[in-house]
Amino acid sequence: MECPEIRKGEHGMSKTEKSGRAAAMDDLIVVTGAGGFIGGSLTRSLHERGFTRIRVVDKKPLPDWYQRVPGVECLCLDLSHRKNCERAAEGAVEVYNLAADMGGMGFIERFRIECLRSILINTHMIEAAYRAGAVRYFYSSSACAYNTDLQKSPDVRALKESDAYPAMAERGYGWEKLMSEMFCQEYWAERGLKTFIARFHNVYGPNGTWDGGREKAPAALCRKVIEARDKGRNWIEIWGDGTRTRSFMFIDDCVDGIDRITHCEDLIATPINLGSSELVSVNDLVTIIEGIAGVKLERRYDLSAPKGVGGRNSDNTMIKRVLGWEPSTTLRDGLRKTYAWIEEQYADRKAGRKTVE
Ligand code: NAD
Repeated sequence: MECPEIRKGEHGMSKTEKSGRAAAMDDLIVVTGAGGFIGGSLTRSLHERGFTRIRVVDKKPLPDWYQRVPGVECLCLDLSHRKNCERAAEGAVEVYNLAADMGGMGFIERFRIECLRSILINTHMIEAAYRAGAVRYFYSSSACAYNTDLQKSPDVRALKESDAYPAMAERGYGWEKLMSEMFCQEYWAERGLKTFIARFHNVYGPNGTWDGGREKAPAALCRKVIEARDKGRNWIEIWGDGTRTRSFMFIDDCVDGIDRITHCEDLIATPINLGSSELVSVNDLVTIIEGIAGVKLERRYDLSAPKGVGGRNSDNTMIKRVLGWEPSTTLRDGLRKTYAWIEEQYADRKAGRKTVE
């Protein structure tokens, strides 16, 4: 794989390695970052699938969580502290670490220190999970861990897992992900903790950030179109020149993929792409959203705004080979649901009702 030094299986048979089973319905499952977008959706899915002991953790106060799932133990803890991670991991059988200080391009280009500090979360959380005797540990990495030299042109070759090395990750956020991936790999190699690492490519959908500076392009563009319609304006502002390309994965595919990856023994300590391979430009994205909204707007390009790499797509050869599966929700279908949800949030906010942004 891309990290050739990884010494798989050099440890003896540990407590964790002996148990290769999927979680029982009453095993304790811990989700961190559960007040956020993906952690919240993962928690809801685990609850709907019938898991009876779920503990969820986030540093945000409870009223600010995107989703609150009934019957789930909620803890408000800052997981950059070791003691809090120990409390969070107590008795856990599976740990899903989705906590990170992150946002869209506007956030990760401006606040690299905040992004780098997330290394404390994974560093303490993986140790706490190991000490608690957890069987499986999932880590949410990112396509930002890939070598940026391979992402200069909008006309990109899709990124395959080996493209992370030689390393030239996105400054701040991407390097934090790459280092945390290495922690996960070494906890398997040296200590026998089964770790699973997915490199998410842009995730979007309902119940995520849609305003306030941390939102990503799909949510931001939905909001701008909704706002333009509401205010009777015939234009929107677009960051960059609209030609940059990306792929976007719908949240339901992301949650499904996390479960498949975490329960595949062939993927222990092996970073894998979890993303859509439907490549579109920002202009294409706007066109789809306009189609959903039934409007056509003048596009005003802000060339001084943060724009990120020229192009990025997910090569899904490995996930198809290993899991016989890949994210398949079309961008049009996913955006229709996302647009409808943001429209509701926008109307609620306008009416003075509480929303979560
Ligand atoms: P999010 O910002 O909605 O959720 C992250 C949550 O982590 C937030 O609720 C935040 O309060 C919490 N958090 C931050 N610092 C914490 C701390 N010290 N202690 C406890 N909680 C803390 O982000 P998301 O989109 O749900 O992302 C989840 C994970 O997936 C992150 O690791 C992120 O880097 C990764 N990821 C997301 C995307 C995407 O497109 N959304 C892409 C690549 C990787």
